[in-house]
Amino acid sequence: MLSVKVVHNKITLVESELPYFTDDELLVRMHSCGICGSDLEKVYGNYGMKSLRVGHEPAGHVIKVGKNIKKFHEGDRVFVHHHVSCYSCRYCLQGNYTMCTNYQNSNIEPCGLSEQFIVPKWNIEHGGVLKLPESVSYDEAALIEPFACCIRGLNKISIKHGDNVAILGAGPTGVMHMLLAKFWGANNIVVSDINQFRLKFVEKYSVTTVNLNQDNLNDVIKEITKNIGTDVTILATGSIKAFESALKITRRGGKILLFGVPSVGSKFDLDLNSIYSNEQIIIPSYGASEIETNQALSLMSDKSIDLLPLVTHRFQIKESRDAFKCAHEASEAMKVLIVTS
Ligand SMILES: [Zn+2]
Ligand SMILES: [Zn+2]
Repeated sequence: MLSVKVVHNKITLVESELPYFTDDELLVRMHSCGICGSDLEKVYGNYGMKSLRVGHEPAGHVIKVGKNIKKFHEGDRVFVHHHVSCYSCRYCLQGNYTMCTNYQNSNIEPCGLSEQFIVPKWNIEHGGVLKLPESVSYDEAALIEPFACCIRGLNKISIKHGDNVAILGAGPTGVMHMLLAKFWGANNIVVSDINQFRLKFVEKYSVTTVNLNQDNLNDVIKEITKNIGTDVTILATGSIKAFESALKITRRGGKILLFGVPSVGSKFDLDLNSIYSNEQIIIPSYGASEIETNQALSLMSDKSIDLLPLVTHRFQIKESRDAFKCAHEASEAMKVLIVTS
């Protein structure tokens, strides 16, 4: 069984035996799994979260069912969520599901970027396995997790009909935020990036794009919002510069969603007085719970939002090194998937 590991910041392919399988677990054959910005951060950056496993967006079909499991059967097509909350601790009861201690402690074995993987009892019992309707392909299902994370972020800032929205970063999650903001009835949507390919991709959805190498984001926002600033600014990048811009372009009392993963040690010199007097609201959003994975699946299955155009590249698992390089350089890439044939 072939799996992908990060060893000393390098993508490494390992041929290993299947992990030990108990009567309370599921064995899934992976068909499609996306490379996430956080996976790239584990290889090319400085990732701050616990797990260094790569691949947490896997979709596949069940090939073995533990004796004690009644809800799933061999052949079921599924999306598997790696981190699953307990839904009964203080964090969970207050709605901070991704802050649950069990959230980051739960995981699939060995990881999503593996030809096969084991889903532990915990994930099965806490809603971490979603059965896929026929209308949702494996490639689409591989987009459930990042899409769910975007839905959670937008739920947290409670985006409203008529909001003027800026999205900084036109990568896959930037585009997902853009599609969701459109779906929820945002008024003007401005998307900025320095990547010409990605900006061209976004233009197809008739939103305003800003190439930060040529245009001044401030000026564009001023013009569109009649000097007021955006109601909502979404950081779909972990860049400090983008955060600095967000503070400039968001209106007084507006909201800034901290979505992209900043590197560990990302420091920023902030004038607390300006945050106070402008009442800007900064809201971070990390991960997603089963509420949003289910919302994501239902938006996909009833075809409310079509995410498949985001998939620009598919690599076989043995080509994972090239896949990571492609997703990292992103010169002509949006979402990169690893598939098994
Ligand atoms: Zn992710
Ligand atoms: Zn909990």
